[in-house]
Amino acid sequence: AKENGRAGYRFFRDEMNVRTQERLAIEHDLHLALKREEFELYYQPKVDSRNGEIIGGEALIRWNHPEQGRVAPGQFISVAEQSNLINGIGEWVARAVCAQSRLWGDAGLKRVPISFNVSARQFLYSDLPVVLAQAIADTGADPTLLEMELTESVLMRPQEVQSALAAIKAMGFRIALDDFGTGYSSLAYLRKIEIDTIKINRSFVNDIEKSVDDVVIVQTLISTALNLHMEVIAEGVETEGQAMILCRSGCCACQGYFFGKPMPAIQFAELLRQS
Ligand code: C2E
Ligand code: CA
Ligand code: CA
Repeated sequence: AKENGRAGYRFFRDEMNVRTQERLAIEHDLHLALKREEFELYYQPKVDSRNGEIIGGEALIRWNHPEQGRVAPGQFISVAEQSNLINGIGEWVARAVCAQSRLWGDAGLKRVPISFNVSARQFLYSDLPVVLAQAIADTGADPTLLEMELTESVLMRPQEVQSALAAIKAMGFRIALDDFGTGYSSLAYLRKIEIDTIKINRSFVNDIEKSVDDVVIVQTLISTALNLHMEVIAEGVETEGQAMILCRSGCCACQGYFFGKPMPAIQFAELLRQS
């Protein structure tokens, strides 16, 4: 048993080392990526399922790694969050999305709000209102066409974030609560912070065609949002059936592969042009 225990421990330790090394390698590459501008924003349409009209877009970061090709955020955002790299990346995202929104406006394309993601850590450890004010000043973007997506974990610290959120709202930015229903946030937090939009997480949408219970849950989330005078949008909508059930339940704003996958800016501009 002793031998086993030791072997088990050694195995565990080796695995830890690999993971640590991997994390350090990613961190190292991320530093370079920021300098070398290897990041790119993809845009996923938000659509009114009743008529297929584009009502917005979400910016999602991609990393064009020189050796590994396109890397999804799931593979590096958490690493970035564990170091202060997330602040640099977040700043890049804010500036890039502001610049893009301004360009689309100047090109006379349909003006729809574009959202971007901000992680809790970024919210707590960087001066986000200053970063966003600077991005607006430098790009001349219209903040009322920009929306910040936060997760419930940010709302767990209402005292710390309330003044920052108020400042960001005062500049004109919209605020969306991402992955609604998946965190621990109590409904009480929703009252304290001015949220414009609630995004229903795809885990609640997945099975609504098969599970009556899931329909009831989604309907509860939707009516919570609407009763609090917030807009509501469903994420991860992959079928027409899901979109129909959602719309019948009061949520006709959808985002998901059924309506469009995240795509390069140039392709998203084409969608805006056609609408
Ligand atoms: P999220 O904010 O919840 O973004 C939605 C994710 O779901 C995206 O994955 C999107 O591609 C995916 N998705 C959209 N529609 C569907 C669908 O119909 N089915 C399925 N299965 N998936 C769908 P992505 O782009 O890989 O991003 C993953 C997460 O990484 C995001 O989740 C967000 O938390 C984070 N992230 C992305 N970009 C940024 C960023 O610029 N900054 C920060 N801090 N986090 C980001
Ligand atoms: Ca999001
Ligand atoms: Ca989400």
